[in-house]
Amino acid sequence: MKQSSRINVNLMKDYNKQLVLRTIQKHGPISRVEIANRIELSRPSVSEIVSILIEEQWIEEKPSEIKVRGRQPIPLDINKEKKVIVGLEIGAYATTVIVCNLKAEILYEIQIEMNTHKEPDQMIEYLGQQINSITQTYKEKEIGVLGIGVGMHGLVDTEKGKNIFAPNLGWRNVEIQTILENITQLKVLIDNDCNSAALAEMWFGQGKDESNFISVIVDYGVGASIINGGSIFKGAHHVTGQIGHVTIDPDGPLCSCGNYGCLETLTSEKAILKKVKRKLKMGETSHIINQKFNIEDLTIEDFYQAVNQGDELCLNIAEEIGRNLGLGFTILINLFGPKFIVLGGSLTQISDVLIPNIMRVIQLKVMGEEAKQTPIVTSALENDLYTIGAASLIVEDIFSLPNPNKRF
Ligand SMILES: [Zn+2]
Repeated sequence: MKQSSRINVNLMKDYNKQLVLRTIQKHGPISRVEIANRIELSRPSVSEIVSILIEEQWIEEKPSEIKVRGRQPIPLDINKEKKVIVGLEIGAYATTVIVCNLKAEILYEIQIEMNTHKEPDQMIEYLGQQINSITQTYKEKEIGVLGIGVGMHGLVDTEKGKNIFAPNLGWRNVEIQTILENITQLKVLIDNDCNSAALAEMWFGQGKDESNFISVIVDYGVGASIINGGSIFKGAHHVTGQIGHVTIDPDGPLCSCGNYGCLETLTSEKAILKKVKRKLKMGETSHIINQKFNIEDLTIEDFYQAVNQGDELCLNIAEEIGRNLGLGFTILINLFGPKFIVLGGSLTQISDVLIPNIMRVIQLKVMGEEAKQTPIVTSALENDLYTIGAASLIVEDIFSLPNPNKRF
């Protein structure tokens, strides 16, 4: 009996420590009194835990900004100097490696070209060696490297730490976690890039104060991740969130997944460029694009620029993309009832045109008056969404509570 009660006390202590640390990460700078009030823990207990966290270099005392008479409340915040995380976004042509602190401030960034002549295992080994030389500098300065988060497209088995299928690289069943852990001796976590981006929104972006929302990314592909009760809704079979492969038009174009008319075939960067080029080749006029470009040289950035300069042909296409995305968003809202949807990816560059058109379809088709008003917001993490997302896998691991249902 004695033995088991001691274990419970220790577990409780760990839980409370985690609770205090998580509160400071989410709400810092924050005083000891504010922490005690927020998590309903006694002030002496909070003070005791805070001392340990300061000693372990997780947090630090900050200078007080508010001048009040008497004893000043000392703000506490995450120590940004003593611990770092590595984020790895494995892309089709290049892998981006970042080192960031626990506040997701990027301290170092490098792009490593993907060598298509190397076997996937060799490529991962090579990335591991590169990470070792990058992290060496931090280790020499006695800065703790907490782990490596890996985000990549396609289907990923997070529990086994391997990718199942990455269509743009042609990789199947690569034991990414095991290979990287063996080389770097660091903790490695891997997930689909949509899921990791949603974690970035939850910890550092639009979802910071919300535990039920959906993150949708539209760029070379289209995917969603559902944050439910402060955690990613995983479902079974590794397919959850594949909104890009829901059929919107059965007579539509052939998709990379083998089906026809998936949302992705109507709204991805590739789909957009195909549509613009086709219209131009068929003699439709676009003042801006015709003046500047050879049709075949057209890039997605040119398209975004044309939309934002009011080019009619491109505006019409952007509006249609918005309406098609609206059909996909309607499915997500009717199924999961999120508080809001965060739109990320390169298409956010034309969100001023997309969002009113998405909203028009949502208001027409979603059930229930309140749900029809579900806000669509744009990600604030811009180009860093995927890399911060990868690093957020480690953040989530460090700051999550033992019982995922208990959130605050
Ligand atoms: Zn598809």
